[in-house]
Formats: sequence, C-alpha cells, structure tokens
Amino acid sequence: MSDLFIELTAPNGCKYTQPTGLFINNEWVKSKSGEKITSINPTDEEEIASVYAAGPEDVDIAVAAARKAFKDPTWRDMSTTARGDLLYKLSQLIDEHKETLATIETWDNGKPYSVALNEDLAEVVGTIKYYAGWADKVHGQVIDTSPAKLAYTIREPLGVCGQIIPWNYPLLMAAWKLGPALCCGNTIVMKAAEQTPLSILYLANLIKEAGFPPGVVNILNGEGRKAGAAIAQHLDIDKIAFTGSTATGREIMKMAAVNLKNITLETGGKSPLLVFDDADLDQAVKWAHTGIMYNQGQVCTATSRILVQEGVYDKFISEFKEYVKKTSKVGDPFEDATFQGPQVTKAQYERVLSYIESGKSEGATLASGGVAYKDVGGRGFFIEPTIFTDVKDNMKIFREEVFGPFVVISSFKTEEEAISRANDTTYGLGSAVFTENITKAHRVARLLEAGMVWINSSNDSDLRIPFGGVKMSGIGRELGEAGLDSYTNKKAVHVNLGTKL
Ligand code: ADP
Repeated sequence: MSDLFIELTAPNGCKYTQPTGLFINNEWVKSKSGEKITSINPTDEEEIASVYAAGPEDVDIAVAAARKAFKDPTWRDMSTTARGDLLYKLSQLIDEHKETLATIETWDNGKPYSVALNEDLAEVVGTIKYYAGWADKVHGQVIDTSPAKLAYTIREPLGVCGQIIPWNYPLLMAAWKLGPALCCGNTIVMKAAEQTPLSILYLANLIKEAGFPPGVVNILNGEGRKAGAAIAQHLDIDKIAFTGSTATGREIMKMAAVNLKNITLETGGKSPLLVFDDADLDQAVKWAHTGIMYNQGQVCTATSRILVQEGVYDKFISEFKEYVKKTSKVGDPFEDATFQGPQVTKAQYERVLSYIESGKSEGATLASGGVAYKDVGGRGFFIEPTIFTDVKDNMKIFREEVFGPFVVISSFKTEEEAISRANDTTYGLGSAVFTENITKAHRVARLLEAGMVWINSSNDSDLRIPFGGVKMSGIGRELGEAGLDSYTNKKAVHVNLGTKL
C-alpha cells in the first residue's frame, strides 16, 4: 500500500483506513511538492497522521478538473432528480459510516464523541438529505410584461466553487457547503482546515462511492496562506464560500476581488444574550450555558456576552456558576460523561489563556475557572470553563471574540441600554433574548443588529432556517432555502413574440 492510505486505530479502538492524499477527479494523489501537514490529537498532544498539503500547482489541477466536470454533459445535463438521488445516496452512506466519521472527528478535533456522533453527524446527514430534496425544486419564473414578450428566468449554477472551511465543525461545515452547491449543479474545490484534515478525506471516499462524476467534488488539505490563498485568487473559480475568522474573511474578500468572485462569508461574532428581569431564569441559565460552553466554546454564534438586568443579576450569576460547575464536565472526549474536551490546538488554548490574563489585568471579576485543566493525564489543551463578571464595555474580553469556554457577564438597567450595548460591536451574528413578555421579545428582536435572534433559547439553529451574519460577521446566507441563492444565478431570457422594430 502506498502512503496514500494508512491503517489507523483510534483511541476508542475503531480501526479504519485513513486516506492521506489530495482528492482530485475522484482519485487520490500526492501533492506536487510532496509537502505534508501533521494532525495532532488535542487530548494527548501526540501526532495522529500526516497528510498531503496542496500548493498552488495542485489547486490549479483541482480547478481544471472541476471546470471540466462543470462543462461535461454527464454532470451539466444530468436531470435534477438524478442529482438529488446522488445527494440522497451520499447522505445514506454518511449515515452508514457515521461511527467512523465521528471517531475521526473526535480524535482530530477534541469534541466529545457523543456530540460528534449524535449532533454533528446527524446534522451532516440531515443537511445532505435536505438539499437532496431541493435538487429538483429549484426553478425560475415566468415574468409577465406584455403579450408581445415572454420573459423567464433560469436558476443556473454559478460554476466552479471554492469552499474554505474551518476546524470547529469540520464535517458539518463541509456539509453546509457541499449540499447546496451540489444541489444546484455546481462543481467544487474544497479546502479543509489544516488543524483538522482527516475526517473530510474519509468523506471524500463516500462522495466517490455515491456516484458523483469525477471532478465534481475535489477536496484538498493545505495551509490557508498557500492552498487557501490560491483558491481565493484563482481566476477560474467563480465563487468563494468561506467560514472562519473575520480577519481571514477580509483577506479572502480582497483576494476574491481579482476576478470579482461571487462571495459568501461566515465569520466571527461576539453575540449578546440578554436576560430581562421577567425571564424564566432557570431556562435562561440552561440556554446561556449551552450558548457559550457547547463545543468547547468554539462556535462562531456562541452567545459569549451575557447582559443581565440588574434585578436578577446576582441570582443569575450564582445559578449560572452552579450550573456550569454541575454540567461542564471537562475530560477525555471519548468518555461518555464528558461535556467539554480540549481546545482544538495549542494555539487556541494559548489564545484563550491570554484572554484570561487580559480579563484579570483589566480588572474584571474572575468568578469561575480561569486556569488550564490538568486532570486528563496532565496533557492536552484543556481549559476550565471560565466566567468573568462585572465586565465593562471597553474591556478587550467584552469586545473581542475569544472562541473558548469563556463568557463575560455584565448588568444593565433599561431595555434601551441593553439594546444599545448589545449592538455596540463590529459583529452581528447571533443574539438571544430572555423575557416572558412576548411584546418585548419581538420588539427587541427587531432592534438587535444580528443575522439571527433566539427568543428564550440560544444557538438553537436548524438546517432548514437561514444562517449568517450582518456587519462584520459575514455576507450571504447558508442553509434553508436561502442557501440556494448563494449557489445560483438567475439568468433572464427575453423572447420576442411580436414586437417589431
Ligand atoms: P483560525 O484563525 O481560527 O484558524 P481561519 O479563519 O484563519 O481560522 O481559518 C479558516 C480557514 O481559512 C482554514 O481552512 C484556513 O486554512 C483558511 N485560511 C487561513 N488563512 C487563509 C488565507 N490567507 N487565504 C485563504 N484561506 C485561508
């Protein structure tokens, strides 16, 4: 066996064949330079495997394959129902292989296995299945003007789509992008994050097995600054879809300007969660916990800024602290009882720790956590769930995205103040409001500058509902019917039925 496939045994005993190459034209190849990236297990800091890393020359080959597939009648002229069937078949294959995929995800990313299996993989399957259903339901319109003219629109695919995905939900972010793009007839060059390169390669095999023609989906690993930048700048890519940090999103947008690519960006956030005096406090506490502590706090929509009205401020803090202590069990992600695994990399771990130092030095009150967690064999990138209270609006920890199990809490007096402070951010991704007053809930929802508002919940997203941000949290929408707009053009056809010049 060449080094394009290696046999691995995961910490939970699962044995599988890990591809290590670049997936281009339904085949596994090495990178031209022979360069590799190595994936580290965040639980014990050991190396898991090395995989080939694409450079610009490999991106060129993948784009050429995707372009050829886009023009090939096998894909271009395939009936929309047949396209849906392929996606449906893929969803079934993912479901059949979900234990292996969840194992790889947990090993590489550090998220609890129960979450990877029951939530991430369930949503991956659901998303692909959902867009399988859409494939033959995307149609244009006839637009009436006069009897002398027939005008209609065709919803056509954009072409070759570059898709750059992050490490916090490797398979799920792949599914969010593959589903709608394929459903609409595009072809794809996708790049996974260098921190989590493994699960997507296993998925690539299933894409081939489902029967997608060669070149329709090409999957590369590689560094952002090399492979990612080559995709963003490529003159033969029509669209770029990116999920990641706001700083990288800006870079990508600049690079994508080279040929005015269509663009979808889903970037960072510092999403507020407002708790009014009249809230169901028990519910507010539970959702606030999920909203920031889920997935090690590595969620772009995490409600990381909690604003509590002064009448319930002290009570909320004491109940929230208690709930975090009881629920956020830190530990080995392969253990059933674990709620919180390690941060994904040393860099992320150090980043969170540095924000803890910043919070302390700026004078916020450290109410809980604030240190590394060392009880998992003394290794790994574990951090105790951290709560800062009495946080002021000008503090770095109130303004910047931390991306960890790290929350800031502050009190407010009036509804007006809560809205203005919630909106006082460059971000606008998620937001949450807790109140039992239905009028107030909807009034506040309208005034929050965010792509999504949860009333009496947090991060209760759903693949049928549009997902995306305003301000510096992104451009465009993923998921739901709205996700189709990100992958289609409306071509207008004007038919002259009798107008004479
Ligand atoms: P983080 O900072 O959390 O690692 P990034 O936004 O940098 O997140 O990474 C998200 C994705 O963007 C990854 O796939 C990464 O490789 C890619 N990426 C990073 N930098 C660039 C870049 N300059 N051009 C294109 N892609 C990039």
